[in-house]
Amino acid sequence: MSTLPFAVPPGCVQPATDRVEVYSGTYASLDAAAYTCPQHTDDVALAVIAGGLTPYQVHVGPGVSRSCGYVYVYPTGTFGGVAR
Ligand SMILES: [Zn+2]
Repeated sequence: MSTLPFAVPPGCVQPATDRVEVYSGTYASLDAAAYTCPQHTDDVALAVIAGGLTPYQVHVGPGVSRSCGYVYVYPTGTFGGVAR
């Protein structure tokens, strides 16, 4: 299982317009991405900062159908649970 060191606020299941990428250190490792609607982007970014990580907000393009609150943990990232 993969576990992030912070609690992602529950999403509202609205269509996501933003993606908050979660980096360890100073953009050293892309570890996760959280999809958010405009109302919740800041909440998620603040949670990332509170967890000692670095958020980077990007807009998702058309054709991306994720819901607010969806979190993807990269298997090869710091929290992906892949042995290194
Ligand atoms: Zn939302």
